[in-house]
Amino acid sequence: MPEFRKDPVLKRWVIIATERAKRPHDFVKPKVEEKPAFCPFDYGNEHTTPPEILAFRPADTAPNSPGWWVRVVPNKFGAVNPELKAKKYGLGMFDAMEGFGYHEVIIETPDHNTHLALMDYKQVEEIIWAYKQRYETIAKDSKIQYILIFKNHGRDAGASLQHPHSQLIAIPIVPKRVQEELNGSQEYYGYKERCVFCDIIDQEMQRQERIVEENDSFISIEPFAARFPCETWILPKRHMNCFNDITEKEVKAFAMVLKNTLYRIYKALDNPPYNFMLHTAPVTGEGKTYYHWHLEIVPRLTNVAGFEWGSGFYINPMPPEEATKYLRAVEMP
Ligand code: ZN
Repeated sequence: MPEFRKDPVLKRWVIIATERAKRPHDFVKPKVEEKPAFCPFDYGNEHTTPPEILAFRPADTAPNSPGWWVRVVPNKFGAVNPELKAKKYGLGMFDAMEGFGYHEVIIETPDHNTHLALMDYKQVEEIIWAYKQRYETIAKDSKIQYILIFKNHGRDAGASLQHPHSQLIAIPIVPKRVQEELNGSQEYYGYKERCVFCDIIDQEMQRQERIVEENDSFISIEPFAARFPCETWILPKRHMNCFNDITEKEVKAFAMVLKNTLYRIYKALDNPPYNFMLHTAPVTGEGKTYYHWHLEIVPRLTNVAGFEWGSGFYINPMPPEEATKYLRAVEMP
């Protein structure tokens, strides 16, 4: 049974994921990328995943059969489990909690060999709709405080399967990283009465130094204090604290900026491993006025090493202004 455990000094929670119990030798990385002959996310293998929770498929096809274009299933080796209780308990001086939550996989396409950066806009829109539908449904569970949608692409970014997919983990805790963003934006709002992210967007649009992609409703930028080379944020231009408030028109605009930004990263860095994380307000409603949802893309080009681990500082060898030039120089199809 997975368990949440709280660090009593940093107030940071970890998940001890016993479902994935490993011995030390399991962590030795294989030298060569083996090419698996079998992929559970391909057409015809639907029965090898847990039964689907949501699928976009023609009305005349049966659940858990081919024909779908986006499919959502529970993670077979979930880091958290919806059948547990969201109950805290003490272990001496320590706090812990049963590993309650939802861990789902969004299979982005039946095509094993494609990539978000290469899909057409319509398919990217469909994936965003799947995110939104799952978000909306899970947000109704009053025990859930935070829903994180994220993607690991490439083995070095933590992906164990090559087939294009993203994930959703919903937990009964607001993560520390998100809480820090909430506190920071609340403080800024406290003395300026403006949203810090709206101000960032305004300033970037005036300066034109760090904009990668832009349309009427969305913008992607290299953040001023980027931690990593080509770290890129995508933000809605309209002040919107929760991802779930996105309109139909905005889904289209988001899909366009997301795909184009990922395409630029794909070309400029030759299909690098990367993670993206969708940071939105907690489902508890905290951050309504001052928080502004956004997607953070982090290409995994540098290793997080001793100084970073020890200090929380990052050493970024590529100024974000330079990164912007590289990404903007990519020729679009
Ligand atoms: Zn805002």
